[in-house]
Amino acid sequence: MAQYLFGLLSAFFLTASAPTPPKFRYMQIAYTGPKQVRDLMAAGWDVAGVNQDKKRITLVVKDGTVMKTLGFPVLTSRELYAPDSSYKTPDEVTKILLDYETRYPQFVAVHKIGTTVEGRDIYAAEITARFVKMSPDPKPTVLFDSLHHAREVMTPEVTLDILDQLVTQYSTDSDITKWMHKYAIWIVPMVNPDGSQKVWTSSSMWRKNTRGGYGVDINRNYPQDWNKCNGSSGDRNNETYRGSSAGSEPETQGLMSLVASIKPRINVSYHSFSEIVIYPYGCRPDRIPLPGRTDYEAVGKELAKKLVRDSGSGTYKAGVVYDLLYDADGGSIDWMYAKHGTVSYVVEVNSDSQGFQPSYSRWRDDTVKRQRPGWRYILSQVEKFPRTP
Ligand SMILES: [Zn+2]
Repeated sequence: MAQYLFGLLSAFFLTASAPTPPKFRYMQIAYTGPKQVRDLMAAGWDVAGVNQDKKRITLVVKDGTVMKTLGFPVLTSRELYAPDSSYKTPDEVTKILLDYETRYPQFVAVHKIGTTVEGRDIYAAEITARFVKMSPDPKPTVLFDSLHHAREVMTPEVTLDILDQLVTQYSTDSDITKWMHKYAIWIVPMVNPDGSQKVWTSSSMWRKNTRGGYGVDINRNYPQDWNKCNGSSGDRNNETYRGSSAGSEPETQGLMSLVASIKPRINVSYHSFSEIVIYPYGCRPDRIPLPGRTDYEAVGKELAKKLVRDSGSGTYKAGVVYDLLYDADGGSIDWMYAKHGTVSYVVEVNSDSQGFQPSYSRWRDDTVKRQRPGWRYILSQVEKFPRTP
């Protein structure tokens, strides 16, 4: 089957005309198993999501290309338009963070954690009741990050909603008040501002940063298991290009230096889409070693149960990425746990019906509200994970 598929794929690439206009489609094809996904990615296809319940894969394809040679029946196909302009640009995210810092100086401190290839600053916000000291020990920290991947425009909405909830519900919500006293909660809403700018200016389905014009997949660039298991690509034009060396990218380095400095107990990295919760490791058959695995995976499964699907019924699935999607090496959560003992999860928000850029007016509020029980649950579990040296 694989050889047959590759024959068809190469036939496709030889006949595709270039250059193609920057317009895109989602195409859904029947899912037959993990090997199919790996073969598609190795052949250069942009695999946007896998829905194991409905047995379908969503691919992003440039409009104008012919997909019938793919060898799998196309289940659905729809054209993609530019994302809703209510989603945030890099400048808007920066302005929002600085506005909160100005309005809530008792709670919010904004920190620059890096500078991109194009010279944009990457910002983190530290959120805590700053007037409550835990001296001499610093407060335990929790980190929520988003937008490693530029086109996943819903994800900063989630981390910015965490910021908003924490500062506006302080003193009225007893759990939030307690967490703001006991913990320092950090958000990095936009890990990849260069990629985001490209989404807004020239390519709505851009995923990577913009290094050299080809871009590096920041979430395949972390030093843990970098280039270990075909869970990334060495081809610059591939959507999962891992970069020239482990940790080569300024965005990767920015998050790494923040984590090395604040050593979070727990991290959630928001991506889209697939309605799943992912825990380490990304290379089959690696698992978190026992005894730490038990609590780590149990909390991941419980987190998934807190997250209601976009359909309004049922909850997210939890597991390792190679069971749920595909092998992935050099990812942030693997590095955070292996290097710093941070209990780290990916949450993939929204379903394959919503995609990367659902209508803002229809889906933004529903999505951030449905994520609240998840991050609140994470904040309720901090004591379960005392720092490992
Ligand atoms: Zn992503």
